[in-house]
Amino acid sequence: MPQPVTLSCVIPCLNEQANLGVLLPELLTVLARQDCMPEIIVVDDGSTDGTPELMRHWTSLHPEIIYLRLSRNFGKEAALTAGLDAARGDAVVCLDADMQHPPDMIPPMLARWRAGVHMVYAVRATRHDETWFKRVGTRLFYALMRTSDGLGVPPNAGDFRLMDRAVVEALKQLPERDRFMKGLFAWVGFHSESMVYTPPQRLHGTSRFRPLKLLRFAVDGLTAFTTWPLRLLSLLGACVSLLAFLYGLFIIVSHLLYGDAVRGWASLITVILFFAGVNLMSLGVVGEYVARIFTEVKGRPVYLLRERAGSGLDGSGPNP
Ligand code: UDP
Ligand code: MG
Repeated sequence: MPQPVTLSCVIPCLNEQANLGVLLPELLTVLARQDCMPEIIVVDDGSTDGTPELMRHWTSLHPEIIYLRLSRNFGKEAALTAGLDAARGDAVVCLDADMQHPPDMIPPMLARWRAGVHMVYAVRATRHDETWFKRVGTRLFYALMRTSDGLGVPPNAGDFRLMDRAVVEALKQLPERDRFMKGLFAWVGFHSESMVYTPPQRLHGTSRFRPLKLLRFAVDGLTAFTTWPLRLLSLLGACVSLLAFLYGLFIIVSHLLYGDAVRGWASLITVILFFAGVNLMSLGVVGEYVARIFTEVKGRPVYLLRERAGSGLDGSGPNP
């Protein structure tokens, strides 16, 4: 008699008490209808609302629920990493706590996985619900990400996805501290398929990713997966030097041939200030990469746990 498959659901959450109260019963109902042994891992990324009390209550009622509480807010990427480290399932689903990732999509994802697909990721059908800034920004971001060698980060795919154990083990091998999950999911490869969906509105509360935080996130992603900005700077420097040389030659020749007086305080100051700006900007770009190296070299843990409740698959079933 073959063992039933095991499925872990990883839910990072920050102050999602109201949403968890709706998501957990719905998720339990969906999972109960599947032919699998489930576990639900709620990773509390430093919530300051009633999430800990709520989750202790849930774990006492349902042993298949695990509650992991990080020691502070480490960010969604770190929370996801903590969940993936704790997950024991043959397949692992990552979903947000705010009901924007409908649990109803898990059964079709599971079906694709049973058919042999390693990773099934949800892709937003449209971004019309988002602001102009976010739409243009994401488009630009994905265009820039595509320039990374061999890395196909699918546009409009979020963290909502189902992964085979092999993918999770591959992700766990990646040692970086600054974890840009969308990039890491794409980097590990494997047989991936998309599944289109229309995300509903957030149930309670507002998004934690404000424009400036999104910009920071995009810069993190780009510096983690591309090196061309550094090479672009060398090219820019070479082009500017060549132009400056040609212009200097032109001034000398026109002075010698036509006796032109050397003029141009205004053009001089413009050129100096312009290139001072380019210089500082280039330093900033180099600085972004140096900052990443600094973070990596320190080698601090990606997250720290403060509390763990519930046993999940460890307590109830086969441990792969
Ligand atoms: N989240 C988290 N840590 C953070 C920010 C967000 O764990 O520092 C969680 C949040 O509770 C939610 C998910 O990540 O479950 C997605 O966050 P949000 O809905 O704010 O982002 P958006 O849907 O706008 O991308
Ligand atoms: Mg959301």
